Parts: sequence; C-alpha cells; structure tokens
Amino acid sequence: MGQASKQYIDGVLNRLNKQYPDMVEFQQATKEVLRSLEKFVDKHPEVIEHNLFELLVEPERVVKFRVPWQDDAGKWHVNTGMRVQFNSALGPYKGGLRFDPSVNESIIKFLGFEQIFKNSLTGLPIGGGKGGSNFNPKGKSDAEIMRFCQSFMTELSKHIGPTTDVPAGDIGVGGREIGYLFGQYKRLQQYDSGTLTGKPLEMWGSYARTEATGYGLVYFLQNAVEDRGDSLEGKTIVVSGSGNVAQYAMKKAKDLGAKVLACSDRGGYIRDESGIDEELVIAIKERGGSLAEYIEEHSSATYHTDESVWTIDASYDIALPCATQNEIDGSLAKNLVEAGVTYVMEGANMPVNDEGLEVLAEQEILYGPGKAANAGGVAVSALEMAQNAQRLQWDFDEVDQRLQDIMATIYQKCSETAEEYGEPGNLSLGANIAGAEKVLKAMETQGLV
Ligand code: GLU
Repeated sequence: MGQASKQYIDGVLNRLNKQYPDMVEFQQATKEVLRSLEKFVDKHPEVIEHNLFELLVEPERVVKFRVPWQDDAGKWHVNTGMRVQFNSALGPYKGGLRFDPSVNESIIKFLGFEQIFKNSLTGLPIGGGKGGSNFNPKGKSDAEIMRFCQSFMTELSKHIGPTTDVPAGDIGVGGREIGYLFGQYKRLQQYDSGTLTGKPLEMWGSYARTEATGYGLVYFLQNAVEDRGDSLEGKTIVVSGSGNVAQYAMKKAKDLGAKVLACSDRGGYIRDESGIDEELVIAIKERGGSLAEYIEEHSSATYHTDESVWTIDASYDIALPCATQNEIDGSLAKNLVEAGVTYVMEGANMPVNDEGLEVLAEQEILYGPGKAANAGGVAVSALEMAQNAQRLQWDFDEVDQRLQDIMATIYQKCSETAEEYGEPGNLSLGANIAGAEKVLKAMETQGLV
C-alpha cells in the first residue's frame, strides 16, 4: 500500500519536474505538500484511482498579460502581469497580488498552490489563486504607481469578479494599490466591492484586515504555546521583515507580554534589547524609509547592514520569519537551533527551504507552516467578502474575535490531524492533510470538470 502511494506521488512530481524544469519554487512547494500526503493516499485509494494529484497540481487557468505604463518623465515601460487561477473546488479563486521584481510564473504558481490549502484550512468558502507582476514599486512616485495599477487592472478586470476571482494584496501591494486597482475596476466594470479585498475602510474594506496576518500569526503561536502549558509572557522573539505581517506580529506579541529583539528589511536588521518599538518601524516604513533610521531615535539599538537577522548573536525563544520565501536555508536554520529557539512560525509563505526544514525537524522545535500560521490574512479577506455581500461593516472587535476563533480552529485541526496520522506535533503534516482532504473531497464531489 505505502509503496503504491509513494510511487504515485513520485510519478506526479517527476512529471512536473520534466514539464517545468525551471520552476524551482513551484516544484519545491508541490514536493513538500505531496510527499507529506503519502499516508493520506494510503487511506484514500480514490486519489490514485482518479489521478487526483495530477488535477491538483495543474492550475485551472494561467492568465498572462502585458502591462504598459508611463513614468513621470513620459517614457513608456512594459512589465508582465499574471494571475494563476489554481483551484476553485471550494469557492472563487482567492489570493493576493505581488508586485516585486522577483515575480515569475514559478513563484506565482508556488504561492497559488500553497493558497489552495491555506484557504481550505480557514474553513471559509474560498478557492486558491495568486497573481502579480515583476514591476518594482520601490522608488516610484504615487502617480506612477497609480498608472501602473490602472494598466494592470485594465487587463485583469476581464478575468475577476466577486463570484469568480477575488484578489487582495501581498508584497508590494497594500491599501494604496488596492484603492487604485479598485478605482479602475469600477471604471471598467461596476462598483462591486466584493471583487477585491484588503480595501481601505471607506471603500468597504474590513476592520482588522490590515492587522490580520500578523495578529493571526501570533494567535496561532499563542495556541501552540498554551497547548504546551506555557505562555507568551516574557518570551523573546526575533522577526524577519518589517512590512505589514512583521509590523502587526510585533505589536500583538508585545501586547501579549513577549519581547521582540530584532526585525529586518532588505538593507539589514535592527536589534533593540529594550524591545523593538513597532510604532516607529511602522512610521519609518510608511514614509518609505530604511530601518537604519531607527537608531537615530533609539540610541540603545544597533543596525547591522547587509546581514541576515538569522545570524543575530543572541539566544531567544521564538522565530517568526515574515519576509519572503527561502530566507532560511540549512545553515541559517542551524543558527536558530544554536540560539535555543523552540518555536518557528511562518508569517511569510515558505520562508524555510528544504534543507532548513530538515534541520528543524531533527530538533524539538515546533514548526508552524505558513499555510496555517499566516492564514489570518486571507481569513479576514473572506470575512471582508461576507461583509460586502451583506452590505455591512462589522466593528474591529467583532472581526478580531472571529480571527482569534479561526486561528484557534486551524491550530486544533493541524494538531489533531497530525495526531490522527501518528505524528503528534508535526503541524506541517497536519496542515497539508487537513487542507488537502477538503479540497480533494470537493473535487471528487463535483465530478470531472
Ligand atoms: N497575500 C495574502 C496571503 O498570502 C492574503 C491573500 C488574500 O487576502 O486574499 O495569504
């Protein structure tokens, strides 16, 4: 039995490897998920019978388009835009848009693939998708960003809508960009607030959506810590990144009594023994500044140029990688082990690479994969869709309470599934199986479509 499942999974992965040899991130993500589903396949012969994994790893649709835009000096430029509509078994495609020079089809496909299971874990009616562009928003004027967003949406608007595909933000796409994207959607289609989430509040966005991913990450962590009879009070934390996820993870961690020692940006990291002042980090990042400016106001802090925050010479309890994919390799993972870390919870998507995961797995470290630990963002996006459909806007506390309940449920689901499959504490296995089970069941129930 086990042998047949393994062979089947290897067959699917080999096919992907042959067909898409250059899509390394996509292969990394599919390998991680499918390999962990072996015991699930043992119990569910219909997976092999109906060849369900071949359907699961192939996006329902990939839309690729040209995004022409004009800079302030009048020069014309062109970028590539895309939207991967991966799986709609559980609902309209749902997932963010990333504007970053690193964006390519492999990265958007890996993110879209992860999103399927993440969205399934939220328990809300959303399928998986992702999109973006290799456009670099850094150093662009407000007017350039607006023109780029308008051009991007001119094409994307043909493919999305409240019951088909509902994009949101990701790296490089925040409230400002969503505002411009929405404005263009409205101009070309209609005022349909349910077509994008992460909207500013006056455009019927949801309270607590800005905070949701970071807060959700810490709620997930809190559930894990309390499940072990411990508390976040007095714990020390290192965070990577200083964008939306990192900012609100730091705030919630501090509210719950933990101390954040360090966080980072593309230029280096800051270390502040008295605890990172996240309000200052938010202010610096809102004005487009560098973390180097932090030490001007906190003379006790130090700035470490061009160094990964995971090389910090300190012992601490919890690592929250909130920057981007593959930021922790095998050797940086060893640093975490040496620092005495007992929890690694992913605020970013796939920040720990294969080798890093192997290092962590050998230790008594509780690892929370991004698709579970950072699902709070998309969960509140789904709550935003629910509010938009009802033409209502709930208050902050109502959304925050629902977010806490959702993160507690996700933690329980991952933990119980891991136990059911004989690997207690393997939250990654639990997340992949619990996430996939529902999607696969929905795919089967809907028949071959
Ligand atoms: N980009 C976020 C994620 O990785 C949020 C997606 C959404 O809200 O649709 O889950």
